[in-house]
Amino acid sequence: MIGSRRSNFAAMAFAFATIHEIPHQLAKIGVTPQDVSTIVLTHMHGDHIGGPSHFEHCKIFVSRSEYELAPGKKGPGNGYFLKNWPKWFRPTLIDYEEHPEGNFKKSFPITDDGAIKVVPTPGHSIGHQSILAKDSTFTYFIAGDLTYNCATLKREIPDVVLMNKVAQQTVEKVHRYVQSTPCIYLSSHDWNAVDLLEKKEVF
Ligand SMILES: [Zn+2]
Repeated sequence: MIGSRRSNFAAMAFAFATIHEIPHQLAKIGVTPQDVSTIVLTHMHGDHIGGPSHFEHCKIFVSRSEYELAPGKKGPGNGYFLKNWPKWFRPTLIDYEEHPEGNFKKSFPITDDGAIKVVPTPGHSIGHQSILAKDSTFTYFIAGDLTYNCATLKREIPDVVLMNKVAQQTVEKVHRYVQSTPCIYLSSHDWNAVDLLEKKEVF
């Protein structure tokens, strides 16, 4: 009986994991992994590094400080698990440039026109970064694990952090940024993120 329960649980867990993997999510909007050419990682914690295994053909960006910290002795204790990295994983490392973006002194362009760029948002992890995607009306602020959701950004409470002081400064800076322009703030673990995106709900 116990064995059977365990088997059922294992089967359910596998089904849950598979249908939530990114190829299945992309298929819902008619996109395959082969349609994707560029990936930007906000950081490399264990729960953010599984997806790239589907994108060996892509250019993958990560901040230099994040990539160089993760394999260190303190890596596992700080949430990095190298065993989850694809064997072929050799990302393009980002060194931010002297291109101001709002109240950020530095940024890094992902597209030549600057419609998609990255800004450093350290604190949750040393090399945590956020992605800004702009259209003619909105800036989509893809915040990774900077804060848990919009409410905690409004209260300037960082998500679980590695560096308390830096995280606090970053959250305050991002709060000012998202108030300065029509911004849709999307964080990784916010259950409302899909709604915010679909309804184009400005912060
Ligand atoms: Zn994280």
